[in-house]
Amino acid sequence: MPSTPPLGVLENAAEFLPRHIGIDAADEAHMLSVIGAASRRALVDAIVPHAIARSQAMDLPPPVGEAAALAELKAIAAQNKVLKSFIGQGYYGTHMPAVILRNVLENPAWYTAYTPYQAEISQGRMEALINFQTMVCDLTAMPIANASMLDEATAAAEAMTLARRSAKNPSQRFIVSADAHPQTIEVIQTRAAPLGIEVVLVPQAAWGAALAGEYFGVLAQYPATHGRIDDLRADVALVHARQALFVVAADLLALTLLAPPGEWGADIVVGSTQRFGMPMGAGGPHAAYMACRDELKRSLPGRLVGVSVDAHGNPAYRLALQTREQHIRREKATSNICTAQVLPAVIASMYAVYHGPAGLARIAERVAAYTAILAQGLRQLGAPLRAQSAFDTLVIDTAEATEKIAASAVSTGVNLRIYAKNAVGISLDETTTRADIELLWRLFAQHFASASQALPRWDAFENGVATLLPEALRRSSAFLTHPVFNTHHSETAMLRYLRQLADKDLALDRCMIPLGSCTMKLNATSEMIPITWPEFAHVHPFAPADQLQGYRLLDAQLRAWLCQATGYAGISLQPNAGSQGEYAGLLAIRAYHAAQGQSQRTVCLIPSSAHGTNPASAQMAGMQVVVVACDAQGNVDMADLRAKCAQYADRLACVMITYPSTHGVFETQVKELCDLVHQHGGRVYIDGANMNALVGVAAPGEFGGDVSHLNLHKTFCIPHGGGGPGVGPVCVVADLVPYLPGHATAGIPGGVGAVSAAPLGNASVLPISWMYVRMMGAEGLRRATETAILSANYISVRLREHYPTLYTSAGQGTGPGEPGRVAHECILDLRGLKESSGVVAEDVAKRLIDYGFHAPTLSFPVPGTLMVEPTESEPLAELDRFIEAMIAIRDEIREIEAGRWPQDDNPLKNAPHTAASLLQTEWPHPYSREVAAYPVPRLRQNKYWSPVGRVDNVYGDRHLFCSCLPVQDLAEA
Ligand SMILES: *Cc1c(COP(=O)(O)O)cnc(C)c1O
Repeated sequence: MPSTPPLGVLENAAEFLPRHIGIDAADEAHMLSVIGAASRRALVDAIVPHAIARSQAMDLPPPVGEAAALAELKAIAAQNKVLKSFIGQGYYGTHMPAVILRNVLENPAWYTAYTPYQAEISQGRMEALINFQTMVCDLTAMPIANASMLDEATAAAEAMTLARRSAKNPSQRFIVSADAHPQTIEVIQTRAAPLGIEVVLVPQAAWGAALAGEYFGVLAQYPATHGRIDDLRADVALVHARQALFVVAADLLALTLLAPPGEWGADIVVGSTQRFGMPMGAGGPHAAYMACRDELKRSLPGRLVGVSVDAHGNPAYRLALQTREQHIRREKATSNICTAQVLPAVIASMYAVYHGPAGLARIAERVAAYTAILAQGLRQLGAPLRAQSAFDTLVIDTAEATEKIAASAVSTGVNLRIYAKNAVGISLDETTTRADIELLWRLFAQHFASASQALPRWDAFENGVATLLPEALRRSSAFLTHPVFNTHHSETAMLRYLRQLADKDLALDRCMIPLGSCTMKLNATSEMIPITWPEFAHVHPFAPADQLQGYRLLDAQLRAWLCQATGYAGISLQPNAGSQGEYAGLLAIRAYHAAQGQSQRTVCLIPSSAHGTNPASAQMAGMQVVVVACDAQGNVDMADLRAKCAQYADRLACVMITYPSTHGVFETQVKELCDLVHQHGGRVYIDGANMNALVGVAAPGEFGGDVSHLNLHKTFCIPHGGGGPGVGPVCVVADLVPYLPGHATAGIPGGVGAVSAAPLGNASVLPISWMYVRMMGAEGLRRATETAILSANYISVRLREHYPTLYTSAGQGTGPGEPGRVAHECILDLRGLKESSGVVAEDVAKRLIDYGFHAPTLSFPVPGTLMVEPTESEPLAELDRFIEAMIAIRDEIREIEAGRWPQDDNPLKNAPHTAASLLQTEWPHPYSREVAAYPVPRLRQNKYWSPVGRVDNVYGDRHLFCSCLPVQDLAEA
């Protein structure tokens, strides 16, 4: 009797594996033969030092397919309860316009883009970010704003340190309004402690006397966390008289109606743009903003997009000043922020583009009107309201009845904010309806009105109500007057604007992005789908714990799996970027030493090849950075490390290394290195950005690391978003678990305090990494690691004759003369080309654009080189296309070397070539237009045209301009 195939075959659970990994068995056999290895496993065994190999496989649940994983996650999501939130406290309901949802948040052209270091292929997203900066400048009335900060609380903490750097008053005291959001106060306190800054909490209403003392800055909240709108103009004068800086945390929607801080003297303004279209998502991701006075712009932290010119004299955007700032200034950097919140910033800016100034003002007016109506009704019902002024938030004195009122609110499907013990708060937002307000009236009537009293009627309010906005603080100035905010208001226009910007950029939906250290792998659609489920998207981070059970489970499972992947005992998912994980990890080390009575241990040893965030984070954690040399092979110089360990023996806090190293090799002496530091009483921090070479193969928590951070937006598939959001979990060994971040505001005590505004940081993107691990399983993840290593070695070998790989390891079992091996990335050495042809690495990077590729990492960690990381997701055909392009470019360089093209006029120096430059009547160059545009035949079928020529970085820094271009300049261009 004929039978079906065995069910084990039909039900193959590993069905996702071939979707994620781009290399099939035949490709793999070919690649192995090219590099001369017997099998994938043999290759990896020969590369990874045996001393660090995992003792056992990861203990993860067996993988399931895409549909099954989604179903399982849906059941977890269903354990969250989505109630209507009136909690406020920095997180509000909002409607993301559907055209933005589908064409930005759900569009890989936006979410798979890389940080815009390569300006020419990032013009679309940088225009969106310039719009963001302009929006913030206009609404705050400040001259300059960045794009973007990680959340409002960390932005406030960064404002504090910016104020400390800039204020003339030498005091170490910072006055914080007790009326600021509690999570903001908490994060400021965490940040202040290691820097020796004293934080003094004073209620805004009682500032008078406090402002007469010594301090370097103050932070106000406008409107205050409980809704009151204070007139702070007199306070600003007092603060300035002390040579101190005035920081305001402000709500952008309120600023459409209220006198903006820039008009009454603020020096720095920070806040969240969450309510501009981004769902609450249990706390993130959202873009925060920071704006400052012009004199402070050179120490403004975070990313700043500026306008420059291209090679043809046309305006073009590029990252200004702060570009790679940490890589240059190291521990003197203004901040450790690298990955920011680009995708949420794009969404917030598009919300403003779509609604325009009148639309935003109407949304705000409606919120303010509903708040006034709610207040009138509540007063009629006898509910005691506190403040007389309000934009969106009311506080009602509830005395003994607080718990009862909050509980009856929950039972009718809404959350109120509970203040102290004797008051509740209500914050309204864009999503509030008449029915919501009637529900709130009914709720409070039960407690304050007599049974016979009728509810207020809407008829009484149809013609408007007396506003609660203070007359003296009404905004009169215009905002968002630039045409970009006044053009794209129909959906057709908006759709085309979004498409037009996306078409200017190269993201993973068009080509590989072979960026070393950044692991631009597949961001699978199934992984992305859950982030917009209402059960994940529409919950407030400070909702009652029993409503967040789904998140609790997600957090617990993901942490358990990541412990398996790293070999650590405890993990916190709170840090919302790698840099924040570094900071949290170093705080844990610091707190550990202090608990041992060793608080003098503050020296952090960092190899010279380290990523710039490492020294910047160490500085923030109050540590002194001591640099350790690297040897000629790119490895940590063990003799120098030994000497430094001895020199600083009693002050040694830790060493901070990256493994495999940023040079892309598995250093064989890593165990010895860890032992050495431990012997001297120090701890070992292993930067986990390169975990894509380790997962399933070796675990840092096993081979000597005490702390690591992961970048879930690299190794674990959260898309890069054009520069964020990220998630940077901090992972520690058992004795450091007590020093992981806590979050008192969310009722999680202990640890080193909060490092993010929300207890789970960028909570709503965690489902992406959960899906990845769930669908890959232990074997699948290991296979991904091995394939990533295979692909990097394939590229290294194929390009060897053209561009030698700078650092390799001999590997175990490789005979003399056999090629050295790399880990999951390789550094191509282009430094010799300058002498022979005048070509530098940047020229090759720009010429790759003409070939339709995003450049590899340029000049990090070694100047004059390109670092290539193909990842496991790229198909062999794409690897070969990249190799073909690189070889063709090397042949072009040979033309220059042979003197056929001048060193200053050739396809590399003039790259990228725009269509406009090729269509000019005059063609003065010694190579043809065909060579410029179609150097390899396949480009005739599929060609990406750079929208601008080579961007002039120096010009942009000399003429710093960071808002939307005036229309006149656009017209001239
Ligand atoms: C990306 C990276 C970081 C910083 O991570 P962010 O998420 O960008 O803050 C730190 N170290 C290394 C080696 C990295 O590649």
